[in-house]
Amino acid sequence: MSKPYADVIIDITHTAVDRVFQYQIPDELSEKAVLGARIRAPFGKGNRLRDGYIIGFSEKPEYDPSKIKQIAAVCEDGMPIEGQMILLAAWMKERYGSTMIQALKTVLPAKRKLKALEKKYLVRRVSLEECEELLAFYRRKNQKARVRLLEAFLADETLPYEMVVQKLRVSAASVKPFLEQGVCTLETKSRFRSPIGDQWSRGDCVDLNKEQRETVDGILSVWRGDRRPCLVHGITGSGKTEVYMEVIRQVAAEGKQAIVLIPEIALTWQTVMRFYRQFGERVSIVHSRLSAGEKSDQMERARRGELDIMIGPRSALFTPFTNLGLIIIDEEHEAAYKSETVPRYHAIDTAIYRCKLAGAMTILGSATPSAASYYRAQSGDYHFFQMKTRAKKLSVLPSVEIVDLREELKAGNRGIFSRRLKELMVETLNRGEQILLFLNRRGYAGFVSCRTCGKAVKCPHCDVSLKVHRDGTLKCHYCGYETAIPKVCPTCGSKYIAGFGTGTQKVETMVKAMFPEASVLRMDMDTTAKKGSHDAILSAFADGKADILIGTQMIVKGHDFPRVTLVGILAADLSLYSGGYEAGERTFSLLTQAAGRAGRDSLPGHVVIQSYAPDNYSVEAAASQDYEGFYWHEILYRKLLRYPPVSRMLSLLIASREEEEAVDMARAVKRQAEAVNEEGILELVGPAKASVSKINDVYRYMFYVKCEEEEPLLELKRSIESLDWGKNVQYQFDME
Ligand code: ADP
Ligand code: ZN
Ligand code: ZN
Repeated sequence: MSKPYADVIIDITHTAVDRVFQYQIPDELSEKAVLGARIRAPFGKGNRLRDGYIIGFSEKPEYDPSKIKQIAAVCEDGMPIEGQMILLAAWMKERYGSTMIQALKTVLPAKRKLKALEKKYLVRRVSLEECEELLAFYRRKNQKARVRLLEAFLADETLPYEMVVQKLRVSAASVKPFLEQGVCTLETKSRFRSPIGDQWSRGDCVDLNKEQRETVDGILSVWRGDRRPCLVHGITGSGKTEVYMEVIRQVAAEGKQAIVLIPEIALTWQTVMRFYRQFGERVSIVHSRLSAGEKSDQMERARRGELDIMIGPRSALFTPFTNLGLIIIDEEHEAAYKSETVPRYHAIDTAIYRCKLAGAMTILGSATPSAASYYRAQSGDYHFFQMKTRAKKLSVLPSVEIVDLREELKAGNRGIFSRRLKELMVETLNRGEQILLFLNRRGYAGFVSCRTCGKAVKCPHCDVSLKVHRDGTLKCHYCGYETAIPKVCPTCGSKYIAGFGTGTQKVETMVKAMFPEASVLRMDMDTTAKKGSHDAILSAFADGKADILIGTQMIVKGHDFPRVTLVGILAADLSLYSGGYEAGERTFSLLTQAAGRAGRDSLPGHVVIQSYAPDNYSVEAAASQDYEGFYWHEILYRKLLRYPPVSRMLSLLIASREEEEAVDMARAVKRQAEAVNEEGILELVGPAKASVSKINDVYRYMFYVKCEEEEPLLELKRSIESLDWGKNVQYQFDME
């Protein structure tokens, strides 16, 4: 391929990546001037030589060719980490559809000048007994922040200060009296040299059981072998985290670094502390609540080799480790690993590609692997490991029963609790144990509909029903539109309109009416909007401050509640009808995980799954905790309908404020696809209105193309990109 002009970004440490400059490539450098290479080139009026990176090539000059400068040199010291990240960005751009700039902004965190980095710790300086006494004292005074801090001190003598502030939400003012009284001291890194040494001696390291040992050994032999991705299918509580930590320890001993991805929702104090206990200050975290500056500090520490492990959600994937060994993706089936913004990358495929560039290895772990990952493990693309027993000896799997809600209706029970669930709730409360009530749909709240014409009250800007909130308003969860509940139906004028459906708020109200003595916590999008409230609710419940926790899927992730012995899944089918070919898979994994929350410790657990479709395979397989049964059913369905992972699927969203123009463009796309599809290997679906056909007054159309191979889809994608899209119509690709 001829590549007369190189697109270069100059010195990414100091400039935003927005500006791209064209340079000529002299013949003698043309072989070395590859994508991602670091170069030196004359820049600015004085033509001073500056460092830059090649991020692409173009055929055509953007202005007078005689004025385009020449690259002066290509650096020979191998491909630096920035070069690797540029290659990764180029791959993401090609595969998922975005501009190079969008992709670069995703992989290269904005940099800034660093302040001196100093890590601070709080160290407990009183005995455990004194700590207990203080705790009792502050509990009586109901000083919650101090209680949280003292509780943390009981578990760990040394606490990273940033964690105390961010995760425990203890302010400097609350800590101050403790410092003055000598309860704890504040240490900086220079005086506190080796938290690792200190922490090691505490024997926090568990002895791996046989199954865990075999998994670790197996993964390490892959590490020494072909380094293909590994999938660990381990039931909840089988000790996957212990396995990850052991593998990291071995790989870190060879001077390699590890990225550990967990869904944001599972990024709890407990999980992170387990890593801190083992690896001390060589661990850092990033999460969405850090400021851009805080985040880039952590990224810079990683680049300088001050860290061995970075823990975080999806975006931690781009931690610029120069000696990357492992990327571990826990709960790999989670939808959160798919980016919702352009480029709409999936963390798993992107991790695997990054590992390929870096000579590293990807480890995926889950109790309910996605059908896609399991399929790849079956077909040998991934190595496969299985862990079938819970690590803690006393804990046994819970007993699960399905209640058929149709039978309840027949028996005259119109409530949201079946007779069986109610009975078990009473028993559980009598024993002083805890209950989780789970409504498996995010943000699911009641909506208002008309009993005369049957229409639900909709958002005027979006094609969705408005949701009822307890403050008496109707809200749009897409655009934020808010209005009072109308007195008459906006469509037909009937006055018989009423709330419909069951949201978490409504469940809370009903539970309180039924069990006035019990204390109830609720966790959903509304109660966790505030910073830190997510952790606060979970820790309050874990500390036994409530008998019942009601929530959406947020409550089923990443937390151990030893005193929870009853889990009620109120409407198992809700997520079955959420649309998309992955609905069955999502239902299965949510139900399985929710069920896994019961009886985590020594107490036996019960799970009640209420359902209108008790014989649906996702519901049945979840009740019998039968992953394989579910998988074979699911994969058959995917094969029949040519859905991923059996086929690849390219989807295209076409959006415009002008509906006509969107439709015209959708037709043009279809014609283009038909023209490309002479051999008939592509299956074209649509175009059709998107399931949410309007958001914020923008009309949305979808077009899907399925094919066994990826390459024809990428080709089609390129040809669609080269259509004349005008300025009123936007498009967005997605590749699965
Ligand atoms: P998973 O990530 O598979 O759900 P975890 O790694 O969180 O499992 O382990 C579940 C619980 O069992 C944790 O409290 C962990 O400390 C404990 N555990 C795991 N492995 C062992 C072991 N070999 N010996 C004792 N306790 C263990
Ligand atoms: Zn009406
Ligand atoms: Zn709206």
